[in-house]
Amino acid sequence: MGLKHRWSIESLSDALLKSEKREFEAARAGRIHLGLIFPAPYALGISNLGFQTVHRIAASTPDIGVERFFIPLQTGVPHPPPYYSFESKRPLGDFDVLAFSLSFEGDFHAIAAVLGPLGIPVLAEERRRKRFPLLLAGGAAVGSNPAALSRIFDILVPGEAETVLPDLLKRFLSEGVEAGTAADLPGVWAPAYHSAPNPPRPPHDVASEPAYAHIISEKNVFGGAALFEIMRGCPRACAFCLARVLYYPARPVPTKRLVEWLDQRPETTELGLVAPSLFDHPELISILELLAGRGIRLRNSSVKWEALSDQILGLLAKCGPRALTLAPETGSLRLRADMSKPLSEERFFATLDRIWHHGFESVKLYFMIGLPEETDADLEETAAFIAGIADKTPSGKSLSATFSGFVPKGGTAWQDCSALPATEFKRKFALLRSVLKHSVPRLSARFESPEDIVQQAYLAKVGPELADTLNEEAHAWRRSGRFQNRAWESDF
Ligand code: SF4
Repeated sequence: MGLKHRWSIESLSDALLKSEKREFEAARAGRIHLGLIFPAPYALGISNLGFQTVHRIAASTPDIGVERFFIPLQTGVPHPPPYYSFESKRPLGDFDVLAFSLSFEGDFHAIAAVLGPLGIPVLAEERRRKRFPLLLAGGAAVGSNPAALSRIFDILVPGEAETVLPDLLKRFLSEGVEAGTAADLPGVWAPAYHSAPNPPRPPHDVASEPAYAHIISEKNVFGGAALFEIMRGCPRACAFCLARVLYYPARPVPTKRLVEWLDQRPETTELGLVAPSLFDHPELISILELLAGRGIRLRNSSVKWEALSDQILGLLAKCGPRALTLAPETGSLRLRADMSKPLSEERFFATLDRIWHHGFESVKLYFMIGLPEETDADLEETAAFIAGIADKTPSGKSLSATFSGFVPKGGTAWQDCSALPATEFKRKFALLRSVLKHSVPRLSARFESPEDIVQQAYLAKVGPELADTLNEEAHAWRRSGRFQNRAWESDF
């Protein structure tokens, strides 16, 4: 990286650091230095409560120094190596432990982009001969496909960090930073020592110790709001979704716990409530009443249309956003029944009438294409459903739709269904585009990249052979100094 470019990365890093309100300053020095890597833009990392929780646990452990890395710092801003820590601009290679937070399979390619330029071998077996930092990984993507990472990382944490990390760090401090010293801990997988993850401890008690953002940045994806996890897991079991698989059982945090947390932070005026399905929270009404009563603005826009009674819409109109996101997933009644999300069109349209009646300004719809057994007739049914919604949208209100692709994920009811090739996604998207162009010309529609969908499907199912692919990518990185990331379509 040239000096000019390094200066611009450091300026951006300093500006982002200044955008933060931190409840405490984490120690940067200690007997063990942990580099916490979020291989995606800062705005996503600082909004991720898993990443924040790991940072908080490490920062609360005496003798651990922790610093953060966001690679890249910002979408579209090239971030070539070498990589320096967010806080003190310390080189990544100086840390004893490199802990990757992997929330999305698309982040797997970033492992090669981070390790390749440093000359750290991707293959764990090649690192054993020399003194390299210990590589650790956790996050939802690790939980969904740990086997893919088993030849790369020394330690994997496929489950909830709160039940593993405190003991893991204590073990490193007392017995040394080696995979072998922690290989027997519950919830840990040290692939060099065991062929499968150790059974985990009981799920974390989120009602007693909820996750929250101890660092709030005005650049987070909730517009600078405070963040609090109001429910972990989901009581539903949609056939394509990982929420139930990864975070079972569903654990709502009682309203009284949120009251206590807010009482300790009286400056809170804006709040993002984190949950896979906030509107399935059993105390939703009392939560909304609490926020409306205290004049706290809720920044969540994603709502469950089935839950939108007049009472809830009235409360949301007082304390919530003016734009709502609804996820019917498909307009085909048959496919919705198959995915365990049955829909009554009559009820859906009645809900839409209520949304407009309560003064909301825009609705964004979310659909999933390429579902198992989906036919062209199902796509036409989806287009007709959207046309029906558009007919009920008063002029002056905004309607948009996002179409993503179905990816079979391990552990879900549809894990064994086939993923479609990119050509088929292109054909399906073209069909939808052409029908919608005529039936709903004013719809603003966004389609996911077919290549990205196919890549996600590959990474969701790939096994330990991923290590060979990433090893080649890391070598290519070292040769060319460039890496094209598929997820963001921009150079690091
Ligand atoms: S899609 Fe939503 S409602 Fe269904 S299981 Fe996942 S989080 Fe729950």
